Amino acid sequence: MRGSEVQRAYDAVVIGARCAGAGTAMLLARHGLSVLLVDRDQHGADTLSTLAMMRAAVLQLHRWGLLDQLRETDTPPITSTSFFYGDEEITVPIKPRDGVDALYAPRRTVIDALLVDAARAAGADVLHGPRLAELRRREDGRVCGAVVEERDGTLHRVDAEIVIGADGLRSTVAKLTEAPVYRHGRYTSGVVYTFWPGLENRGNRWYYRPGTAVGAIPTNEGKTCIFASASADRFNADAKGDLAAWHRSVVEECSAELADELGSAEPAERYWGFPGHPGQMRQSYGPGWALVGDAGYFKDPITAHGISDALRDAELLARAVQYGTDEALITYQMTRDELSNELFDITDAIAAYDWTLDEAKVMHLTLSKCMNQEVEALLGLDAGPSVNLAHLD
Ligand SMILES: Cc1cc2nc3c(=O)[nH]c(=O)nc-3n(C[C@H](O)[C@H](O)[C@H](O)COP(=O)(O)OP(=O)(O)OC[C@H]3O[C@@H](n4cnc5c(N)ncnc54)[C@H](O)[C@@H]3O)c2cc1C
Repeated sequence: MRGSEVQRAYDAVVIGARCAGAGTAMLLARHGLSVLLVDRDQHGADTLSTLAMMRAAVLQLHRWGLLDQLRETDTPPITSTSFFYGDEEITVPIKPRDGVDALYAPRRTVIDALLVDAARAAGADVLHGPRLAELRRREDGRVCGAVVEERDGTLHRVDAEIVIGADGLRSTVAKLTEAPVYRHGRYTSGVVYTFWPGLENRGNRWYYRPGTAVGAIPTNEGKTCIFASASADRFNADAKGDLAAWHRSVVEECSAELADELGSAEPAERYWGFPGHPGQMRQSYGPGWALVGDAGYFKDPITAHGISDALRDAELLARAVQYGTDEALITYQMTRDELSNELFDITDAIAAYDWTLDEAKVMHLTLSKCMNQEVEALLGLDAGPSVNLAHLD
């Protein structure tokens, strides 16, 4: 689609074409809705992420019939997760079950593109380049479409029954609808990461020492994402001038073993830095609009759960939109929050970086319990009306 051809009516316009938006658009299109998916970035563009997908995310790809496509890429299977508390190592094998044979950590250039292609294959129109400029409203204030702006300034008007903001933490849809934030996290991590070539795939490795956390996550092209994190205060005091030096010093402080493994070799790519942002939950529905993914619910990245939540909530929202009432959108937000509240609290507590190693272990056990509940809830979506979330079946 080009130029003025865009001016038409859709059942849904989705702003933001990454895990939340592309997943939602795909599901809506598969259910026969006419969908326009818009992103100001290019198809397959990279973005900030340390890439780890938890079991819930892999399960969603399996349930949506996309896991085989991911396996056909060079994304390596991750068959164990190791936690290092100081010098103590606890390795947990990933048990194959429910169609999930391993965890995966695809580059965003791979997974976001795969989801966008699946949305397009399901019949969604996809536009890369234009940005959402304005929402269109009826006289009673209900959102009834969007105005998107091409890079050359050309404006296009699109009508829609619902406009979905999957446009990330700094969501324009949230700004334009004045969606209030009703939960705030208190703590934030600063993170620096890059990609190392040639390391052995030893599964996901998470290292902890008081005040620091470091991770090694195998990804595409034989590279391993190595992240270093500490409190945002420490990041802001020390990291800004030299991300490489900060990364090295946090890795050395947290894990001599990993520091040795990296040795004096150079990473394969630039260093990425994230100065932190407090977690938040935003009202994610209103007349003619909804939010999904980071736009509606953001957590500190230390628990590596944003992609998993985005894929989960894409399905919850798609079911609510198919149901077709404003009440279903309220239920979408309530269900999301029920599944997220405890994980939100644990993430916030881990991001405080004031724990002992024993306390960190307990928090990770609680996290694991939350993630198991989330997987059960997703499996319940296929199991019929007697299970959790049945109100959105
Ligand atoms: C440092 C860091 C590390 C992380 N590591 C992990 C991890 O290991 N595992 C994990 O699960 N999660 C991780 N996350 C979180 C994860 O990246 C996010 O939760 C996830 O990207 C959210 O996806 P999304 O689709 O909601 O939004 P986003 O990925 O933010 O995508 C939003 C899209 O909307 C588009 N957009 C924005 N505004 C407009 C507009 N006005 N018009 C058109 N398009 C627009 C943008 O171009 C973008 O493509 C990490 C986050 C950070 C910051």
